[in-house]
Formats: sequence, C-alpha cells, structure tokens
Amino acid sequence: MVNSVFGSVGTTIFETMSRLAAEAGAINLGQGFPEALEPEEVVEAAVAALREGPHQYPPMPGLPALRQAVAENAGRFLGVKVDWEKEVLVTSGATEALADCFLGLLEPGDEVLVFEPAYDSYIPIIRRAGAVPVPIRVTPPHWRLPFEEIEAAIGERTRAFVVNTPWNPIGRILSEEELGFLGEKMLKHDLIAICDEVYEHLTFDNRPHRTLFAVPELRERVVRIGSAGKTFSVTGWKVGYVTADARLLQPIARAHQYVTFTTPPALQAAVAFGLNLPASYFDGLRSELQKRRDILVGGLRQAGFKVPEVEAAYFAIADIGADIGADIGAERSASGPGDAELCRRLTFEAGVTAVPLSAFYGAADMRSHIRFCFAKREETLHEAVERLAAWRAGEKQERRAAG
Ligand code: PMP
Ligand code: GLN
Repeated sequence: MVNSVFGSVGTTIFETMSRLAAEAGAINLGQGFPEALEPEEVVEAAVAALREGPHQYPPMPGLPALRQAVAENAGRFLGVKVDWEKEVLVTSGATEALADCFLGLLEPGDEVLVFEPAYDSYIPIIRRAGAVPVPIRVTPPHWRLPFEEIEAAIGERTRAFVVNTPWNPIGRILSEEELGFLGEKMLKHDLIAICDEVYEHLTFDNRPHRTLFAVPELRERVVRIGSAGKTFSVTGWKVGYVTADARLLQPIARAHQYVTFTTPPALQAAVAFGLNLPASYFDGLRSELQKRRDILVGGLRQAGFKVPEVEAAYFAIADIGADIGADIGAERSASGPGDAELCRRLTFEAGVTAVPLSAFYGAADMRSHIRFCFAKREETLHEAVERLAAWRAGEKQERRAAG
C-alpha cells in the first residue's frame, strides 16, 4: 500500500548526493549546509537553555520570545509592522512551514504556480494536499521569470504563487520588476504568495533582500517563511518561522498543530537570542559568505567552468557546456543522464560532489547545469577547485590523446 504521491518520488537529491560523497570520500559541495559558520554565542544560548529547561511542550505557536524576535526583525530589516501574537508561528524548519502552508491553505483542485528550478519539497506536498502544482520554467542564460507564460498560466483555479527569493539553486534575487509583476497579478486575480525567504540575510555586494511582504497593498496576501538553519548556519536545528496576516496564519497554525505541534524549546530560545543580535552579526555572516563565494566562483571560472554571477544564498551554478565531460555534454539535450552523470563522475573521479540542476525541474530534460555549495571553509573550497581544475586538465589531455 502506498500513496501515489510519495510512491512516485525517489530519495531527495540532497540525501543521495551526500551519501555518494561519503561513499567516495569526496568533498561535499552538494547538499546546502554550511561549515564553520555557527555563531558561538547562539550555540551557547542553546546550551544554557537546555540546562535551564523547560523541557516540555512549549506553546503550539512558538515561544513568545521567539515570536517577538521574529516580529521585531520584520520591523528592523523590512520596515514591516508585525503583531507577534497573531501573525507569527514557529515551525520545525522552513520545510515544515511550507507543508503547513500548503496543507492549511489549499483546497483540492486549487492551482499553485511554482517557478522552476524549485526547491524539491514544494511540488510533492502541494500534490499531497490535493492541489495542482503548475510549473513555470525559468531557464538560462537569464533565469528571469517569463511574464507571458505566467500570465497565460493563471486561470480560474489559480490560488497562489510560491516565490523563492533569494533563489535556490540559482543564487538570484528577484528584481523589483519581477516582484512588481507578481504583485500586480496577485491583486488582479486575487492570489496569495507563499514566500520562501530562507536566504533573506545571505545577499552579496550590498544587494538588498526584496520581499512582497513589504508591499503594503499585498501585506494581507503574503505568507513569509524564514529559517534559523540559514540565518544562523545551523541547518540541523530545524527551526523555521512563518509570518502572515492572522486570517492566513490561522489555518497554517491548524495544520502545524497536527504535523509537529511544536519545536524544541531550547532551540527556539537560542534562535530568539540570535535574532536579537546586533547588525554586526548579520553583516559579518554576509561578508564571510561573500568571501567564500568569491573563492569558489573564481576557482571554478579559472578551471574553465562557466559560472553566472551569484547575487545571494549558498550556491553557484555552472554550465556544464559542450566541452566539459565531452561525452556527457553531448548527451545533455538527448535522453541521456547529462548533469546527473557528470555529478557522479565528478564525485568519483575528481573527488568533489555537486548537485544536478535537473533535480529542481519536473520534466527531466534540463540537464545543462550543476550546483556547487560555497558555504564551506576556505581550505575546503581551495582544495575543491584544485581538484576540479586537475580533473579538467586530465580530461582535456585524455581527449587530445584520443584525438
Ligand atoms: N526552502 C529553500 C529554498 C531551501 O533551500 C531550504 C533548504 N534548506 C528550505 C526551504 C528548508 O529549510 P529548513 O532546513 O529550515 O527546513
Ligand atoms: N536546502 C538544501 C539544499 O538545497 C538542502 C535541504 C535538504 O537536504 N533537504 O541543498
């Protein structure tokens, strides 16, 4: 006996690639998790909270201290006033928050526009909620939202957009024009936006984070999701938060009370402490990650990979191009494995693991790019790019020898 949605999905690409990296002893730049960025004072706050307790179920919507901190952050970073009692819900990670939103807000048959490449949890849970995901493909070289297609896809049953900015896996921040377009459609067609903003603090080169939540006319139509996993580099903690108008938040909280009900109180207390840290913490995180981005992007380019600019988040994508893994490159538009096979080969031959971008698309024909995570120690990144450069040099030599 198996549910048709979960019966038809495999193990997630992140888990798959991490297992493969471990098996090969490769440097794991696949799954998006940081190395050596955890703020000590936040970890110490968790230790103190664990010692002090309490250890029992905290209030279902989250510890007041954390809900207050989330609301306060909305004012501090976005200039939006939030009522911490009615408009904030703490969840076990953004993944749970997303599931609560889909389960709590959607009716069977509702259509939800999902912009691909999309984080892998959206579509299965939308489907399990009985709703219909409508994928809208975003493609290279510009990776911009295709306005005409979006317009054409909006129909009678369209209920919501899922908007992920900064965008995993492509490292883009949606432009004002793109967000303006979405906002206009939301008002015109009476839609809501579920905004996955887990990378809100990880923007580079002084770029601002932009959110539909800060547009006054849209305030009541936007559900905003954040994650302590990204903001404090503790992805294993699984502490997330949802902010929305009470009318939207209430059904989301109803779903939450039956999905997990609560999140470990000591971790909530530590995240509350973290959100109250001064600006220097958030600035420091950004500049540290920007340095790491520069090492990976510079190294990949030097090794001959084509890497577009990375504006935000943890990831750089590389066009696998016709001259990288020549036999594989040739397969990428045919039915062959393309990017997935290249990631496998890089793991075993170069000792570096990446993630194929095809995993972020429903249709299996987008095989032109792979994703590397740069939230790692500088030494790890230097070693990885050296290995990739050596692999590419060896590959070229082999090809010349073959003739
Ligand atoms: N959304 C996006 C875009 C992500 O990249 C991730 C991954 N980590 C999540 C949601 C899930 O976050 P969490 O670990 O807090 O569940
Ligand atoms: N969001 C992370 C990524 O994109 C991984 C999350 C997970 O492993 N489920 O790599």
